[in-house]
Amino acid sequence: MTGLRDPAHTPHMPKFLIEVPHDPGAQPCARAMKVLLETGTHWLTNADFGCLDGVHKAWLTIDVESHVEAQMLLPPAFRRDATIVRLCKFDDLITKHEGS
Ligand SMILES: [Zn+2]
Repeated sequence: MTGLRDPAHTPHMPKFLIEVPHDPGAQPCARAMKVLLETGTHWLTNADFGCLDGVHKAWLTIDVESHVEAQMLLPPAFRRDATIVRLCKFDDLITKHEGS
C-alpha cells in the first residue's frame, strides 16, 4: 500500500455541480464575481454565470472525491448558500440499479 492515489487510475472520480446564488443587481453581481474569481482558477476558467438572463447564480462542475472537498473550493462567504450535487452518467445509474 503506497498511500498515493494516481488521478489517472481513478476513472470514476465523482463529478460535482456547485451552484452558488447571489443577490440580483449590479453591485452584488460584481461583488460575487470578484470573490469567486479571487478564490481560485477553477472559478476563473470554468464557472458559468446566469446573470445576463436574470438568473443570479454561478455554476461550476469539478472532479473531486467528496462533497466536503467540493465545499472546500467555495469561498467561506458562499458555503452556506451553495448547492452541491453529485453528478452521474446514465450508464452509472443503470449499473447501480442492476447491481442491487
Ligand atoms: Zn448576478
